[in-house]
Amino acid sequence: MEKWSVVRCPACKNCHGTRTRARQCPHCGQTLASTTPVVATADSAAQLRIEVALANTPKEIRDELRIKLEASQEPLVAINSTSPRRLYALIVDQAGEGGIIRRRDVEDVLNKVESDMDADDLLDQLEINGTIIRRQDGTWQLLE
Ligand SMILES: [Zn+2]
Repeated sequence: MEKWSVVRCPACKNCHGTRTRARQCPHCGQTLASTTPVVATADSAAQLRIEVALANTPKEIRDELRIKLEASQEPLVAINSTSPRRLYALIVDQAGEGGIIRRRDVEDVLNKVESDMDADDLLDQLEINGTIIRRQDGTWQLLE
């Protein structure tokens, strides 16, 4: 079975998931050496989602978050109709002051491009990519 890794970028300290050894940080573009330490590994994309979210979460709330995430594991749906890059750009436009994203913003974007994709699936994808991080109040923070 293919292994997934979570690595922490030495430049911006954000964690992201990767199927192979990381080559470039999706947050700051830093080229990552093959010696970049792996902070966690996962056996599946779903598990990776959890490990990345946990790695980017303050220690104090990690246990609580893990329980919540593991309870809601669902298979991931690939983004198909509109390219992820375009969706991401639209979401960034939609994000409010300080890069805060609400679920409604994502729904607006999906409606705009007439995508039948579920807002939660898109948010999951962005979380895996290390683009956003879930906040405790139910909104998301843009990391880029
Ligand atoms: Zn970085």
